[in-house]
Amino acid sequence: MPRDKRLRVVFIDRDGVINRNIDNGYVRTTDDFEILPNVPEALSKLSNAGCQLVVISNQAGVGKGLITKESLDAIDRMMFSAVAKAGGKIAATYYCPHRPDDNCDCRKPAPGLILQASRDLGIDPKETVFIGDAVSDMLAGRAAGCKTVMVLTGKTTADDAAVLEPAPDYIAADLTAAVDWLLLQSF
Ligand SMILES: [Mg+2]
Repeated sequence: MPRDKRLRVVFIDRDGVINRNIDNGYVRTTDDFEILPNVPEALSKLSNAGCQLVVISNQAGVGKGLITKESLDAIDRMMFSAVAKAGGKIAATYYCPHRPDDNCDCRKPAPGLILQASRDLGIDPKETVFIGDAVSDMLAGRAAGCKTVMVLTGKTTADDAAVLEPAPDYIAADLTAAVDWLLLQSF
């Protein structure tokens, strides 16, 4: 679908958006990484519309010694290959490995990783969108100047999303609905 070329990059949270969240725990290995229904197809649709897809995710389990770098890389390969099989491409992944008490500037709700990725890609975050399932995603996206889309496949219920201040630019049932909405926008 031809579209306005301004939306060149879309930032996407991982757990709860691309794959199922683990209740009270971490996605530690590829065995824990369960891709949500229709996600590879939705990501491929977006990537084939000309958007670069960049995953931005907090992975404090790394800083806590619960997730190895090798495991994070193996999960990346599994995710990349699922999207590639559907005909799309994830351009990059950015992970914050720090624990909450490290007080880094990259753990969402801080916008550090979004700003870093924007610099790396040479884009203005104001011309991008952040898709996430948690309030911290919406706050990080806002802080960086992105438009925000909340999906309801993770941490946030429809009732909680409806009363968020400031409101996300869009609330979508899942990533498929988020992508369908994005591709109709003129930004
Ligand atoms: Mg999440």
